[in-house]
Amino acid sequence: MRKKIIAANWKMNMTQSEATGFIETFLLELGESIEVEVVIVPPFTAIAAVNLALGDAQHIKVGAQNMHWERAGAFTGEISPAMLRDLFVRYVVLGHSERRTLFGETDEMVNRKVRAAHEAMLRPILCVGETLEERERGDVEKVLGTQLRGSLAGLGAKEMQETVVAYEPVWAIGTGKTATAEQAQEAHAFVRRTLAEISDKATADKMRIQYGGSVKPDNARTLMSQPDIDGALVGGASLDPRSFAQIVKGSQEL
Ligand code: PEP
Repeated sequence: MRKKIIAANWKMNMTQSEATGFIETFLLELGESIEVEVVIVPPFTAIAAVNLALGDAQHIKVGAQNMHWERAGAFTGEISPAMLRDLFVRYVVLGHSERRTLFGETDEMVNRKVRAAHEAMLRPILCVGETLEERERGDVEKVLGTQLRGSLAGLGAKEMQETVVAYEPVWAIGTGKTATAEQAQEAHAFVRRTLAEISDKATADKMRIQYGGSVKPDNARTLMSQPDIDGALVGGASLDPRSFAQIVKGSQEL
């Protein structure tokens, strides 16, 4: 049984004080018992504030939105895996479509980051997804297959198991257009089959695959009730603590 994992990708939003306010409200809204894994992914500058605001709520994990693959050195503006560990970060989102399209990240770069994350005992949330043009051309499987094989090259079964994959159709990110539950399930099933080819079936069956792309309180439950959808990576709706708490609570008992 795979435990659902729901992550809040805040992107370039939230100052330290806004992040603190968010966590205070979110914890109140969420209440005591949650059966799913929750990860808050703030910008680097708000990670310490989120940790502080979480206090005893250590069942909620903290993630980062990116990192460099090198341990240290002359890489102005970059953040290393060890720096994230130092901030008690557990997960790191890698290969988000905004990083791929706006900052030129290739599968080869993403693969270096994925491997560096594992070396540093960080768990990657690897994002993959097709553009609208690629979907309309009938290239969804080709694109997903290439991204998965390229980004996960060289990982052993244990590292695969500790990797979360986020299927995020680019056309659904921040657009208000969500994949239908059927479209998402079809892509997730393909992702799982490909993971089995890269590794083996038993490993692929243990891996969690999140859906991302305009997830909101009113569509989250339907998406997450699909057999191969093991959680959500939420952008816009994760900036409101009440909406995000609703998404998390709505996924209970699925
Ligand atoms: C994302 O940025 O990963 C994302 C899915 O954004 P949104 O929920 O706003 O579409």
